[in-house]
Amino acid sequence: MHQNIETRLSINTATVRKQGDLVQIMEACARHGIRAVAPWRDQVAAVGLERAVRAVRENDLALSGYCRGGMFPANPDRRAEVRDDNRRAVDEAAALGAPCLVLVVGGLPQFSRPGSAPTKNLMQAQTQVEDGLSELLEYARDANLPLAIEPLHPMYAADRSCVNTMRHALDLCDRLDSGRTGLLGVAVDVYHVWWDPELETQIQRAGKKRLLAFHVCDWLVPTIDLLQDRGMMGDGVIDIPKIRGWVEAEAGIGHIEVEIFSEHWWARPMDEVLDTCLSRCRSAV
Ligand code: ZN
Repeated sequence: MHQNIETRLSINTATVRKQGDLVQIMEACARHGIRAVAPWRDQVAAVGLERAVRAVRENDLALSGYCRGGMFPANPDRRAEVRDDNRRAVDEAAALGAPCLVLVVGGLPQFSRPGSAPTKNLMQAQTQVEDGLSELLEYARDANLPLAIEPLHPMYAADRSCVNTMRHALDLCDRLDSGRTGLLGVAVDVYHVWWDPELETQIQRAGKKRLLAFHVCDWLVPTIDLLQDRGMMGDGVIDIPKIRGWVEAEAGIGHIEVEIFSEHWWARPMDEVLDTCLSRCRSAV
C-alpha cells in the first residue's frame, strides 16, 4: 500500500536549515529524487527571491507550500506594517509557484510582533487574527493564492498561534469564506493536531476545498524542547498512516510534507536526513 509514496514526499526546508542554504537544499532534494519542497521566507531572503525562483526551476521542483505568513496580533499602530509584510509573503509565494501560503497566525502581540505592548488578552488577539485574515484574504484573492491556516498545538497559544484546533481554524474559514472558494483553508500538521478527539470529524468537515497542506513528523516522549525536538516519522507516538488516511479520504493524493525542527536532525549530514525522510515515508507514513 506504500508503493510510490516517496514520490509524494515534500521537504519543508527548515528540516535541513542548518546544513545548507536554500539552493543547496533544493539541489540535494533533486539529487535524492525528491520532487517537492516548502521553503521558509528567511531562507528565500538569504539567497534572494530571484535565485530561489531559478533554483526551483533548475531542479524541476514543485512546492507544497510557502512558510510563512501571519503573526497578525500587534500594537494597533503597527497594523500597516503587519499587513504589508503579509502581502509581501503572498507575492513571494506566487513568484515561487507555491500552492498556498501557510499562516501561523500569532499569539499575544508582544510575542507575535515583538515590541508590541504586553497584554494577557488572548481573545483580543484572536479578534486581531480574524481581522487580519479577512484583510489578507482580499489581497490573496486578487493574487489567486490560497491561504492555509495552520492550527498549532495549544502549547504555542501565547507566542505563536492563538488558533489551536482544527475546529477553530475551520470556524474562521466558514466565517471569512462561506462560499468555500478554495482560497482559505487549513494546513494539517500531525504534530499539532494528533491529540484532538475531533480530528477525524474536523478533517471531514474541511473537505477537499479546505485541506490545503499535510505536514508530518512525530511526537517524541519525552519531548525535551517545545520548539526544536520534533521527531522523525516512526520515532514517536503519532499514528501517521491513520491521519493520512483521513486526509486522503477527503482530499485525495497530494504532497506529504516532512517538517522537522530538531537539534538532533540538524546535527546530521543533509544526505542522511533526506535518506531517512525517504525511508520513513515508506515505513511510517
Ligand atoms: Zn507544519
